Amino acid sequence: MKLIQNYINGKFLNSLNDEFIENFNPATGELIASIPRSSNKDIQLAVNACRSNDNWHKISITKRAEWLEKIANELENRYEEIALMESKDTGKPISLARNVDASRSVYNFRFFANLVNEIHQPEFKMNDAINRVLNKPLGIAGLITPWNLPLYLLSWKVAPALLMGNCVIAKPSELTPLTANLLAEVIDKIGLPKGVFNLIHGYGSECGQALVEHQEIKLISFTGGTETGKIVAKTAAPMFKKISLELGGKNATIILKDAEFEKHIDQIVKSAFLNQGQVCLCGSRILVQDSIYEKFVEIFRLRVSQMKIGNPLDEDTELGSLISLRHKETVMNYIAMAIEEGGNVIYGGKEPILPETFSNGAFIEPTIITDLSHKSKAATEEIFGPVVTIHPFSEIHEAIKIANITNYGLSASIWTKDVQSGENIAKELDTGIVWINCWLHRDLRTPFGGMKDSGIGREGGLYSVEFFSEMQNICTFLG
Ligand code: NAD
Repeated sequence: MKLIQNYINGKFLNSLNDEFIENFNPATGELIASIPRSSNKDIQLAVNACRSNDNWHKISITKRAEWLEKIANELENRYEEIALMESKDTGKPISLARNVDASRSVYNFRFFANLVNEIHQPEFKMNDAINRVLNKPLGIAGLITPWNLPLYLLSWKVAPALLMGNCVIAKPSELTPLTANLLAEVIDKIGLPKGVFNLIHGYGSECGQALVEHQEIKLISFTGGTETGKIVAKTAAPMFKKISLELGGKNATIILKDAEFEKHIDQIVKSAFLNQGQVCLCGSRILVQDSIYEKFVEIFRLRVSQMKIGNPLDEDTELGSLISLRHKETVMNYIAMAIEEGGNVIYGGKEPILPETFSNGAFIEPTIITDLSHKSKAATEEIFGPVVTIHPFSEIHEAIKIANITNYGLSASIWTKDVQSGENIAKELDTGIVWINCWLHRDLRTPFGGMKDSGIGREGGLYSVEFFSEMQNICTFLG
């Protein structure tokens, strides 16, 4: 079992009250680590550490980008370790942990290091004056992340926050602390100046809340559930903090009658079940034009039935464990609710039969539900598990209406041979991101974020530069 500590002012420390939280591998139930149960006192210590560093914001952005590159290189050296940790901590398949989590974590630092070449200070000339716009650091950035893509999402925030000259206090999910700790080890090894990066572990309602409540922390970047997002927004608003909220989703996958869905079936299945359906962008509602409905359901069901579920460390495993037994119960309750609401489980819906080692694991078969009203709770609330509902539609305007019916507005995908029609539909959808004939195809320069209950703000490329800094216009009179 690994004893994990906070990382404050360049030192690994227990929480001040010396309390701990146990951390389990959800696939096996094995106790793998203990983490500090931190409180507002530890947050204060981290704030003091940030305050004591008076140099980070003064060094050039190019130098800070060099530090990001060093972090990326060192993370890359520990690539396989990141993948293994992520798989054990979350129960996700090792191939996914390698190709998505480890790869993107390294790339996030490298991407923001290179972005420095794209950051220019705009100038606006007048007849008698010149305006120069600066991007000043805010001071301390509070970064709060969930358990589904632990280091991937943490690095997505840490890299731009540091690039723009802020000091950081990061609070990862208490369910997945391992790779955040690895990042602290990397940062310690390369010798990043003390107090620039601080890591606090613990419960969200305790140290997460204390982070958002702290007056001196001027920016909060939060990724997590919509209900928690509401608490964060309510706490931060009276202090006029800059906040970005990346929240839940209930994303529609729209399959038009001319779609080459047999060609794309692996992508469509992946969009429904990647990471056991625990990706905020997963297409958990599939809307299929009625003339191809029967055929699509048959082919989709066949491909899903071939998915290999089980040991996350097997190279060919496609579906691992959910994050916890508690979350498994929530998902199973949603499946039961869908049945009560008139749904027909045409595949899955149960715990799979697995070897003894995984008998205490949080596994659920990939589950397909049909015949459910698109207005039902199971079809409109975020389940965040391996459960997909399929709904027929006849005309395109109906598909748009169904897609927009939920309170969420994160993403959607549209599958059609007629790209122009796809783009026209995309414009009618109330979501921050729309993919046409692809899914999770990411260019990190683009704005990422949701509409409605999926959050506020956009991060990515220059949008992150803007968010993690405060713009200042300096107007110099020349007359
Ligand atoms: P969560 O809201 O329970 O927790 C997220 C983080 O917030 C954790 O670190 C938690 O400890 C902390 N937290 C909890 N209460 C807090 C409080 N009062 N103040 C401050 N911090 C607090 O979410 P989760 O279960 O870890 O993650 C799953 C959710 O995240 C899903 O809804 C998913 O859609 C969403 N998500 C969204 C995106 C996106 O980019 N939009 C990406 C990944 C996950």
